Amino acid sequence: MKINQLQILVYDWAKRKGWCDRIVPIPEQVALIHSEASEALEAWRNKEPQSWTDETGKPQGVGSEYADIVIRVCHYSALLGIDLQAEILRKMDYNEKREHRHGNKAG
Ligand SMILES: [Mg+2]
Repeated sequence: MKINQLQILVYDWAKRKGWCDRIVPIPEQVALIHSEASEALEAWRNKEPQSWTDETGKPQGVGSEYADIVIRVCHYSALLGIDLQAEILRKMDYNEKREHRHGNKAG
């Protein structure tokens, strides 16, 4: 599956599940994407396995939270009319031309 196909799949799911009933302002989108990153950090701090399922059947762990980040990014990109696949390829093309570790940055 290509990223643009994933973006359509996620957006269709979001519409079916009622996540497109209102305009989500970009600052709120960013906060919610960040909340998933924080959940990934907490999973790591709690020494959870990277991918596990709790007693309710809910996926847990860093892997699940990274998936949440991608799902939210796909959803919000579609809301904004962003071609996420094109943006990733455009950025990777630029990154390819940058120095090793972008000028020896730490992280
Ligand atoms: Mg989450």
